[in-house]
Amino acid sequence: MTQGGAHPSPSGALAAPEGFPLLAHEAAGEGGLVYLDSAATTQKPACVLEAVDAFYRTNNANPHRGAHRLGGAATEALEAARRDVARFVGADADEVAFTSGTTCALNQLAYGLAGLLRPGDEVAVSLLEHHSNLVPWLTVAKLAGAKVRYLVPDRQGRVPDGEIDRAVGSRTRIVAVSHVSNVLGCVQPVERIVRAAHDAGALVVLDCAQSVAHLPVDLHALGADFAAFSGHKMYGPMGTGALYARRGAASALGPLLRGGGMVEAVFEQGFTFKGFPAVLEAGTPNAAGAVGMAAAARFLEALGMEAVHAHGEALARRMAAGLAAMPSARLYGPGPDGAEERCGIVAFNVRGVGADLAARALDRRNVAVRAGAHCAQPLVRHLGAEAVCRASTGVYTSERDVDRSLGAVEAARQDTANLMTSAML
Ligand code: PLP
Repeated sequence: MTQGGAHPSPSGALAAPEGFPLLAHEAAGEGGLVYLDSAATTQKPACVLEAVDAFYRTNNANPHRGAHRLGGAATEALEAARRDVARFVGADADEVAFTSGTTCALNQLAYGLAGLLRPGDEVAVSLLEHHSNLVPWLTVAKLAGAKVRYLVPDRQGRVPDGEIDRAVGSRTRIVAVSHVSNVLGCVQPVERIVRAAHDAGALVVLDCAQSVAHLPVDLHALGADFAAFSGHKMYGPMGTGALYARRGAASALGPLLRGGGMVEAVFEQGFTFKGFPAVLEAGTPNAAGAVGMAAAARFLEALGMEAVHAHGEALARRMAAGLAAMPSARLYGPGPDGAEERCGIVAFNVRGVGADLAARALDRRNVAVRAGAHCAQPLVRHLGAEAVCRASTGVYTSERDVDRSLGAVEAARQDTANLMTSAML
């Protein structure tokens, strides 16, 4: 099996883009694709594609079901994947349930913990949350007569200590926050938030959708009770993800999905559940996807998460510095020189040009960025914008890619100026 690009590239990328079949294909011509939408989903290294393919070619059977040889092989492949994914985030295998992604895991958590909420209780979230870590909490809080309170970030996008003390208190039952903002790329003070929540007797849910691909994440060290992350944002397949429950915290969690595989015994008028993680894995699992997600975890481990973090941070600072020097660009969140920890995600707008138009202008130059509210409408509104452009890097991104995208931003502004001039003539 190939290492799938887990070696440096002459272009300055941390992993050679040639090791990612789609990027290799796209870069075939002049002015190849600069893919700066990795926060939406990363491109996949060859080793991940091969792992998924190999599962279906050699191990395909329903895990935890059959007594036959292939059923055993599929079970072993799934459980080996669980061990690899757990190790990658500093957890034990019996603390990780596979899900279809972060959204699924966060819904399981919100509905699974809803029984803890009483009228007058509070769920604390930050204003930076992705809708997937907000809408489920708004829903269960409303059903229980509880309230959602917000931790408000500073201008750099980080929640200050004073906000944590203000919003987390004796009424707080659950604190649900993102580790890394999917819009601004800033890293939240999670250890401080976990301490304040536990002092208040509350449980902590971490949305690690963006952090696991960018930072070394050690869930035991962070001390969170629960966490959620997606495989497809960490170079694994779509439709994969995980829910972490700290040993001892899992018993607080009821299952959302019910059916085969999660019950111990079923009678005409009742049933008993299995323990965690099986209790959250009703139905046939996406075993091939889990195997691919584990291959992605090993791929990132081979690169070294410290190196991955340093690479993304350096690219984000380069991008932010270029934008800050451009009178036509407006940068949101951390500036290029700030001391705060950040990941390879940068939000900006081109003055006088809508975010969607700017992204289309970049696309004409083969630079892919995302424009919109990025499923974080409260945050984007807080930034005073309707929509922003977001450039998000991956391990295959080089300084040359960042420089090409900066040139495309300048050209996007020029395109619009030319259009306005010709409209006036
Ligand atoms: N949370 C954050 C911070 C995200 O960035 C995303 C996706 O962009 C999600 C949750 C939802 O992840 P998924 O769509 O993989 O379920």
